[in-house]
Amino acid sequence: MKVGILGGGQLARMIALAGYPLGLEFIVLDPSEIAGATALSEHLCGQYDDQQLLAELADKADVVTYEFENVPADVAKFLAEHTRVYPAPNALAVAQDRLHEKNFFHQLHIATADYASVSSLEDLQQAMEHLGYPAILKSRRMGYDGKGQVVLKSSEQLAEAWDSMQGVASIVEGFVPFQREVSIIAARRPSGEVVFYPLSENTHDKGILRVAECCVDDPLQQKAEAYVIRLLEALDYVGIIALELFEIDGKLLANEFAPRVHNSGHWTIEGAETSQFENHLRAILDLPLGSTNARGHTGMVNFIGNLPVSESTLSISNAHLHLYDKSARKGRKVAHATVRADSVEDYSQSLQELVRLAEATDDS
Ligand code: AMP
Repeated sequence: MKVGILGGGQLARMIALAGYPLGLEFIVLDPSEIAGATALSEHLCGQYDDQQLLAELADKADVVTYEFENVPADVAKFLAEHTRVYPAPNALAVAQDRLHEKNFFHQLHIATADYASVSSLEDLQQAMEHLGYPAILKSRRMGYDGKGQVVLKSSEQLAEAWDSMQGVASIVEGFVPFQREVSIIAARRPSGEVVFYPLSENTHDKGILRVAECCVDDPLQQKAEAYVIRLLEALDYVGIIALELFEIDGKLLANEFAPRVHNSGHWTIEGAETSQFENHLRAILDLPLGSTNARGHTGMVNFIGNLPVSESTLSISNAHLHLYDKSARKGRKVAHATVRADSVEDYSQSLQELVRLAEATDDS
């Protein structure tokens, strides 16, 4: 069986690493000569809309998936006409436009921050009369890791903020003074079988995920599952999905979902019975899904910008290092480390040590 992946970065790399024990082969399409997954798979080097390469990918792969959601809609559709594509292009279409995504949440009675569509300065001024400050202006498309976003603190800022969006269709949403950010990761098979991972509690800085910690028996687990199952069923979804949520006063508000394996689930490699990467493969190949149970206390720390020193990272007890085969670059996720321990004391100590290492190499 050969699995095709659009994108050959670290997520594709970790999917391939999870697939080898299952006897799978991989083929990735990625414009970079060298990327995280290229050493582990056949590599079609070119643009995502290159018809010839897409035809080759569709021909060689038994099933195609992707590692990022900004795949052009035409590309996903073209592939779906020639081979199986999971998750299906409709999930991409919703996830890649923040306005469609928020409207979709509302149709499914999934609560969100208040929001409004913005296509002009007048729209923004009008929306802010109802929303109140602070708020966040976000481009509808192509936003990730806090890119294409401006926090609005007062009306004097509106003209400048709108100018900075360079006229792109946007949404403005109320700033949520959340107590926690959490995400729920789930996998669904074509038959409708679903498994949920324990909630992950996520810490961001400058819009970038820094730390994700597994929360076994979290009081909000059931609420989060009730939200994500609505998405999975409405989209007739197949594969791993990640839904990012804000916790405020015991309630959950949805921020966005990712139709792919997710950074907040990297702890599942060592920290869960079956990793999100393996369960993604099992789901898209219509194989029985694996247990999502956590194996003790577990969490993950991202390394941003500079590569960690392997010796220092691996000298931390219970730590596992994952390098992405990427060079150092400001603000770039280049590696992560997981910690898994039987006692909460050992876990907390190792996690803190990892956080200190990550802060020392961080240049964002
Ligand atoms: P996003 O690109 O929408 O995932 O936003 C990146 C990060 O910005 C989130 O993980 C939050 O930390 C923060 N953020 C985004 N939207 C809001 C909001 N409406 N209220 C408060 N913080 C937000």
